[in-house]
Amino acid sequence: MISSDRYRGRFAPSPTGDLHFGSLVTALGSWLRARSRGGAWIVRVEDLDPPREVPGAARRILDTLAAFGMQSDEPVVMQSTRTGHYDAAASRLVGLGAAFACRCSRSALAGALHHGCVAAAGRAARAASLRVRGVDAEICFDDLLQGRRCQNLARDVGDFVVRRGDGWFAYQLAVVVDDAAQGITEVVRGADLLDSTARQIHLQRLLGLPTPRYAHLPLVLDATRRKLGKQLRSAPVDPADPMPALKRALAFLGQDDPDAHAATTPALALAAAARTFSLESVPRADRVVASA
Ligand code: GLU
Repeated sequence: MISSDRYRGRFAPSPTGDLHFGSLVTALGSWLRARSRGGAWIVRVEDLDPPREVPGAARRILDTLAAFGMQSDEPVVMQSTRTGHYDAAASRLVGLGAAFACRCSRSALAGALHHGCVAAAGRAARAASLRVRGVDAEICFDDLLQGRRCQNLARDVGDFVVRRGDGWFAYQLAVVVDDAAQGITEVVRGADLLDSTARQIHLQRLLGLPTPRYAHLPLVLDATRRKLGKQLRSAPVDPADPMPALKRALAFLGQDDPDAHAATTPALALAAAARTFSLESVPRADRVVASA
């Protein structure tokens, strides 16, 4: 594990589609925050869901980030190469008695929270997933943008999957293992993941890993107030013409540095915006961007 007092931030896209305006905002927010703190910015590709992966998307995301002036300071880590680490963490959770094999199907749960597995006969053919017990305790954190948040995992989440029945590790476990392995000191990401943070803190505590600071950026919504996302087939940003989208992303994040907005290249815009970046100026609320 890397131990350092130096700021280390990251951007962790899933290669389920091209970079759209919402993910550009997240990349930009995490990049500016890291640079404004004199820190490192690291890209990690979260390619742990082959059924949802789009061939070529990881490469295109990295190329698009580069066209917008953002490049990982360290070699890009692909989560698909790190399953041994997730496996070790999963074994540890089982050893602690915090995780258990479960054969409940999603449809059997029918939207209800999972509380304790009933290993009924007849379900044996289904490959077991591994779930961590949703403990009955309040887990709180002070988000740098969204303020104090608390969640009781038993009440709000239930027992949650850390390894799926098909053998792939779940985001919640992989993100915790990798944020620690990469020595991430602060996580800046979209507010859709606010709700995952208590689960991640719970896993960090179980595994004896440090908890980074968190700042959850507002989400970009489309005209129907849905989060922009790959599922919605939101239009990708254009790497051949980065300046218009880059300036709109700066504006979305409340960064109005005149030099950044007058700049003619991404490198100049980013350098100017990093000099004056202020987390306090980032609006808290999710907002509609008409043309996104
Ligand atoms: N891979 C996740 C996503 O693309 C982000 C994970 C994170 O930032 O913690 O939504």
